[in-house]
Amino acid sequence: MKESSGSRKGAIVRTVLYTLLSIAFIVGACAWLMNENKKGIEEKAKQQLQADLNLYGNDQPFLEDYPIERDYRMPLDPSISEVHVDDQYGDLLYTKSVLPEITAARDDPHELPFVRKQLTWLLQQVKSGEIIMKVTSNEDFTGGASVYDYKLHKRMLLFSGRGVEIVRRGMNAAAYHDFLVQTTVHESIHLPKITPEFDKKNGPHQPHVTEESRTWIIMIKEVIRPWYAQGRYPSSMSWKISKLFAECGDTATDRWMRFVDVRLS
Ligand SMILES: [Zn+2]
Repeated sequence: MKESSGSRKGAIVRTVLYTLLSIAFIVGACAWLMNENKKGIEEKAKQQLQADLNLYGNDQPFLEDYPIERDYRMPLDPSISEVHVDDQYGDLLYTKSVLPEITAARDDPHELPFVRKQLTWLLQQVKSGEIIMKVTSNEDFTGGASVYDYKLHKRMLLFSGRGVEIVRRGMNAAAYHDFLVQTTVHESIHLPKITPEFDKKNGPHQPHVTEESRTWIIMIKEVIRPWYAQGRYPSSMSWKISKLFAECGDTATDRWMRFVDVRLS
């Protein structure tokens, strides 16, 4: 009797032990699988981001911007990589070329109402001295930049002299015009948000990622796609960014925000 009760107890203990071991094994296996799955998802996101970033291809976006079949590009001037713009030439470029192009777009009855509205507002601000607009010799950026000037206590829209000059020399008149209009409208969306606090928090030329995302979404919907629908080809880079946003369901998904964070901010 005693022996049989003892062996029954032993059997129960063994069963409990096996059960606990099995549960521990299953829990362990599940945790491992979940971790592997997480690693897989992270790896996939990394690969996706890499693929998205390849949109740009190289670091001279302007020259590759307009597709050759559209014949926007001019015969390449070999001296183009040597372009440097000093302050004096920057002022000339601004008065003789940039400002007249922007003003012409504002007054063009065939231009998109959104573009005309933004340019009208901006040129009024420039005229009243609220915003300073100029071409700069600064080579830290290649397109446009909205910054706050702490000495003048004013918001500024800066065009990269080198960027403007490269496009002016490397593209035809229509592509150059589109480049200037697109850059100006983009910055005009940022400018009302450029306050000393915002600028300090993010550093010059580095608006917050959400601000860059907001601006690009407006540009895609209000300028890039409508231009394309009119048969006017915005830069191929902008068009690819618009397609990427469409792939995200026209929503600021994680994929979109990662792209904006790494490439557009
Ligand atoms: Zn921007």
